[in-house]
Parts: sequence; structure tokens; C-alpha cells
Amino acid sequence: MSNVIEELNLEIRTRRKKPYNKGAKIIINPELCKSCALCVFVCPTGVLEMVENKRNIYNYSAEAVAPEYCTLCQFCVYQCPDFAIVVEKEEGGEK
Ligand code: SF4
Ligand code: SF4
Repeated sequence: MSNVIEELNLEIRTRRKKPYNKGAKIIINPELCKSCALCVFVCPTGVLEMVENKRNIYNYSAEAVAPEYCTLCQFCVYQCPDFAIVVEKEEGGEK
């Protein structure tokens, strides 16, 4: 993994203060993702990171590595230029 991505992911992890456990289901289509990392930057609670992914033409895609911190705010969904992200609430998740 490149140093830039590693540094980004390390910074992002500092945003995880308290799990919300809203039962978020975060679906990212790695074939639509163009590895811009905008969603990773805008997520206020550090749910997303960039990870190596051979299904992506740039070999990296965003992934929801810490969904328990998701507040269902939808910032990542609105920010993604390629409509690659869907965030839903799982059945039975807390209000
Ligand atoms: S904003 Fe969309 S295209 Fe950019 S990294 Fe996130 S999922 Fe991929
Ligand atoms: S919905 Fe909000 S909290 Fe959840 S992953 Fe997207 S930006 Fe982060």
C-alpha cells in the first residue's frame, strides 16, 4: 500500500470516537469507484478507508471498515461523483 494512502487511513482512524451502532449497511461498488477518496475525507466519523482492491482499475477502492461508527448521515453518498455508494439502515438497527 502506498505511503499516502497509509497516512490517510491513519488520520481517518483518529475520527472514531464513539460507536453509534445504527445498523448501517454501507455498500460500495468497487467497479464504479475511481479511487478519489472524497468519501473517505468527508465521513465525519472515520467509517471509510482506502483499501487495495484488484477489482478496481486503479487497484484501490473505498471500503467501509468500521460501519459501527456510521451515523447514516449520507455525506459520502452525496459526495461520490460516481454514485458508487449506498448507505441503508439494516432491519433491527437502533434508532
Ligand atoms: S467518492 Fe466514490 S469514487 Fe471516490 S473513492 Fe469514494 S466510492 Fe470511490
Ligand atoms: S453515511 Fe455518513 S457516517 Fe456513514 S459512512 Fe457515510 S459519511 Fe460516514
